[in-house]
Amino acid sequence: MIALVVPLFVLSAAGLAVAAVSHVAAWLGVVPFSNATFEVVTGGMGITFLAATFLIIRVGQATGEAQAFKFLLTQAVWWVRALVIGLFVYMLVIAIAASGTGSNSYVVGEVISAAKLRTFSAAWLALYGIGFAVSLTIRGKPALLLGRKCPAGHPVRASDQFCATCGAPAVNSQARNQQTPTPKSNKLLFFLAF
Ligand SMILES: [Zn+2]
Repeated sequence: MIALVVPLFVLSAAGLAVAAVSHVAAWLGVVPFSNATFEVVTGGMGITFLAATFLIIRVGQATGEAQAFKFLLTQAVWWVRALVIGLFVYMLVIAIAASGTGSNSYVVGEVISAAKLRTFSAAWLALYGIGFAVSLTIRGKPALLLGRKCPAGHPVRASDQFCATCGAPAVNSQARNQQTPTPKSNKLLFFLAF
């Protein structure tokens, strides 16, 4: 499962970069690419969203947190959390503005207007953003996916410091030797990705 994290990070970081360039171009009234590229980026968004959802479900199972996505966001670096929430709110604003204008649907082969690209690239930003946040956060904290145990082997919820069964302090299972990147190296990754 942890093997899914790096491919998702690469895909979502690349998707975010393409989405950002497309979105700026759309605001400038330019459609910088073909229908095929538009379809690939939209398809990649779907794959990113499915992979992120899958990982979120597994984090919920490993940590015992019912609201796994919300919990995952509390574990994210502050600027990643701000990015996800900001892009999601922005997508909603753009989607509401586009409702009834016909720029929120796509038929294969049609000419893509700048208004349509603006609506779609806002969705790309938000959903690739979720994939980016999920993969970056799990990469920094593998225990989110691998779960935690007490020394006696009882599973311990991520939000608990002590085992609910025997009271021993929790340790990260299989993740104790994993390097935890600092926020600084996360930032570096972010800029390398762009
Ligand atoms: Zn225990």
